[in-house]
Amino acid sequence: MDFALSEEQQDIVSAAREFAQGEFPERALEFDRNETFDLGLWKKACELGFVGVFIDEAYDGAGYGFFEHCLITEEFWAVEPGIGQAILSTTFGSELLGLFGTDAQKQLVLPQLVSGEAILATAITESDAGSDVTGAATTAVKDGEEWVINGSKMFATNGNLAKYMLIFCQTDPDHPSRHARHSFFLVPTDTPGYESTKIRGKLGIRASDTAELALNNVRVPLENLVGTQGEGFQELMAFFNRTRLHIAAQAVGLARSALAEAVRHTQARTQFGAPLASFQVTRFKIAEMATHIRAARNLYYEAAWSVDQGNVDHGIIAMAKWFAAQMAVGCAEEALQMHGGYGYIDEYKVQRLYRDAKILDIYEGTKEMEKTIVSNTILR
Ligand SMILES: Cc1cc2nc3c(=O)[nH]c(=O)nc-3n(C[C@H](O)[C@H](O)[C@H](O)COP(=O)(O)OP(=O)(O)OC[C@H]3O[C@@H](n4cnc5c(N)ncnc54)[C@H](O)[C@@H]3O)c2cc1C
Repeated sequence: MDFALSEEQQDIVSAAREFAQGEFPERALEFDRNETFDLGLWKKACELGFVGVFIDEAYDGAGYGFFEHCLITEEFWAVEPGIGQAILSTTFGSELLGLFGTDAQKQLVLPQLVSGEAILATAITESDAGSDVTGAATTAVKDGEEWVINGSKMFATNGNLAKYMLIFCQTDPDHPSRHARHSFFLVPTDTPGYESTKIRGKLGIRASDTAELALNNVRVPLENLVGTQGEGFQELMAFFNRTRLHIAAQAVGLARSALAEAVRHTQARTQFGAPLASFQVTRFKIAEMATHIRAARNLYYEAAWSVDQGNVDHGIIAMAKWFAAQMAVGCAEEALQMHGGYGYIDEYKVQRLYRDAKILDIYEGTKEMEKTIVSNTILR
């Protein structure tokens, strides 16, 4: 067993850290307050090779693993979660396309994600179908040489910016199994009938775009079916087994940032004639945060490394996602508490971290869903 990163992996970490530290901090408050983002930063990250590193070399990716993508994710989130999400969510769906797409679909989309010419997004959630994805009611009906999509989607990351959208639709509503009724479709967002509306007022990751979608008679050719008709649910679970690794890495990055803010503030701030960092209560909190971060990192390292070895263990992946997310929410809360009233003001980064953290417990499977997966692996 070897816990050390290779030289190449260490270089990836250093480069990602240097880029994020150089580009993100001065824009973060503006993006957070205005719910905006500068796509120039995404393009720059693409030019420097940080986006889609797990994409196969045949499709212009670097051909690294999900592990290397996680390393970049951790570094970006350790500097600014909202900006990290705005940049690295632009390939959301490429994991599914890579696993189940046709060569033509991959040739069309994946190189553009790497070069910064296009954003891919994935819409599964609906107003009445969140944790229970099998309740998704958007339909795709065959009509001659086309599929016709009708319905609506909620909370689609990059729904207003994406050039392509993977949409989870009901194709076999009468199948006796709820797990055999859905399929994925690749939809260019300039197709007539595709309409997106920006969702404003998010608690955190406000640099990241989120949209509600209306799909009215959206017509795509038959060859835009991704994967196998009726196997969308299984394909979605395989997809989440890759993307949940990224969420765990996001959480570790965010928690690192919370720890750094806590250390900085408690060393600088004096009360009762001594720095806050000299009080045992503070020191124990710092020790707990550092230990929890390391434990969460080890868990996602194991999960991501296993996936890259071809061993996809959904139980460990769910453990990593849930544990790291909960850990990050806890670290952000403790870090804010150590800032006292200053932590409540948005001039202090820790306020943003506290708000940004909560999404980790929610998207790509709530913590309750992750615990359901873990318990199902034990209590069969
Ligand atoms: C910023 C943001 C970005 C997102 N990006 C995307 C995206 O790109 N694409 C996409 O498709 N979706 C996206 N989502 C949606 C996200 O994945 C869902 O919000 C999430 O899966 C939860 O679904 P829900 O909001 O409908 O909550 P619900 O499913 O209604 O859950 C509400 C609560 O009930 C609990 N609960 C539900 N069922 C059970 C049960 N059986 N047992 C115990 N507890 C249960 C949940 O754990 C949760 O705490 C995004 C959401 C946000 C906020």
